[in-house]
Amino acid sequence: MTGKVVILGAGAVGMTVATYLKRHTGHEVTVFTSDTHTAYSQCGMPFVLEGVIHDFPDLIVRPPETFIDMGIDLHMETTVNDIDATGQKVISDAGIFGYDHLVIATGSTPFVPAIKGRELDSVFTLHTLSDGMRINLSINEGSRITIIGAGGIGTELAACLAVRGIAVTLVEALPQVLPMTLDPDMALSVQQHLTSLGVRVITGAHVHSINGRYHVRSVSVQGGSVMAGTVPTDIVIMATGLGPLSGIARNAGYRIGSTGGIVTDEHMRVSTDDGILENVYAGGECAEVKEFVTGSPFISRLGSAARRMARVIGENIAGQDAVYLPTLSPNVVVAGEVTAGSAGITSHTAGLNDITVVGGVSEGRTRAGYYPGGSQLTVKLIFSNRRLVGAQVVAGEGVKERIDALSLAIRMGATVDDLLEWETAYAPPVSTVIDPVTFAADDAKMKMEG
Ligand SMILES: Cc1cc2nc3c(=O)[nH]c(=O)nc-3n(C[C@H](O)[C@H](O)[C@H](O)COP(=O)(O)OP(=O)(O)OC[C@H]3O[C@@H](n4cnc5c(N)ncnc54)[C@H](O)[C@@H]3O)c2cc1C
Repeated sequence: MTGKVVILGAGAVGMTVATYLKRHTGHEVTVFTSDTHTAYSQCGMPFVLEGVIHDFPDLIVRPPETFIDMGIDLHMETTVNDIDATGQKVISDAGIFGYDHLVIATGSTPFVPAIKGRELDSVFTLHTLSDGMRINLSINEGSRITIIGAGGIGTELAACLAVRGIAVTLVEALPQVLPMTLDPDMALSVQQHLTSLGVRVITGAHVHSINGRYHVRSVSVQGGSVMAGTVPTDIVIMATGLGPLSGIARNAGYRIGSTGGIVTDEHMRVSTDDGILENVYAGGECAEVKEFVTGSPFISRLGSAARRMARVIGENIAGQDAVYLPTLSPNVVVAGEVTAGSAGITSHTAGLNDITVVGGVSEGRTRAGYYPGGSQLTVKLIFSNRRLVGAQVVAGEGVKERIDALSLAIRMGATVDDLLEWETAYAPPVSTVIDPVTFAADDAKMKMEG
């Protein structure tokens, strides 16, 4: 099978599709990226800033030469400015390139709110490897850092910098940390752990200005759980969300959804008002897919989801019939010694979608009581009509495994009774005889039955 495949973006989706096609087809593959680096782990950047990983180049999974040696025509630091959908061409800084198949994998861009002073130097976002390097260069021993936004990136970063010994203030507009993935009761223990690491956490508050002439001197905070006022600060990191880079697709006439992402079908194909296009795909953080529980339009901002979407795109271009199912987006955030994970929907998302839910909570340990080490483990299960629709786990260990299993349980339609009958493995160094998940299901069943 031969043809010309053009891929916009050389991140998690772009390079996975490119290498898949080179290994499994005879297609000519051309990839464009406006970035200075390719094939690196964004996910590892907070841990370089912590000092656990020596330096940013260690996050480069494969150098560009590897891809070039595979026969991929890779254009670094080259932006594609337009798609000529009728002529099947892309217009890039490096010229015009025709395609038989097009893959849009442009990812997203950090959303930076219009806060006074955001243009000062030492105000950063953490999105690309170059961002990480710039932040690292500006940090010194006595730096005081304010992070705005306590989602996954802000929370993980706050813990990493605090462990490094930096004075960190974390400001979140909503009343809790990790508001998109955890219920407030589950988020509290993460917040307490951040505080124990020395992070000053201010929730329910806005940074309304970043103050200084050229360099940041302070931020002014309004509202919140702590009367903050002016917080002396040398560096500000905005972790205030992401917007899909879908403008180029919009201009080409492809459908954009309510999330701002490029609408895709289960084959990851894009569409116009006239219908689905058989040879144009989108995946990753620029693409809108469906959320599993609610069926709502959704953008999954996870490397794990991006890789799965890429595989589906690659297989379909190779002539197979691969589908990307509505997503549960199981996720974990590691904040110091605490890991917080979730899958499916939170109670808040259930409320937004008029879904009535019952939650069951249990607190236990990750190892037998007499076994050294281990940690507290809190589990919350969320049920609708007795079916599991959400799971949250916070602990020092054993979180990812439980979230992965519970994610599958949600997808398989497990009920509260299924979870009560769920047999779990036991050995003193890794678990308790009856897993706390069982007790959370028990708690929910008692509530359901009054
Ligand atoms: C700090 C941080 C920590 C993270 N931690 C985790 C984690 O622990 N677990 C997890 O699952 N996920 C994590 N993620 C998210 C994960 O990294 C992303 O979801 C994933 O990389 C998205 O892949 P993508 O291919 O959609 O976009 P990207 O990998 O961002 O790639 C997009 C590419 O498109 C290029 N591009 C954009 N527009 C154009 C254009 N017009 N022309 C040419 N090129 C263009 C960009 O330069 C870039 O190369 C983290 C992200 C960050 C920033």
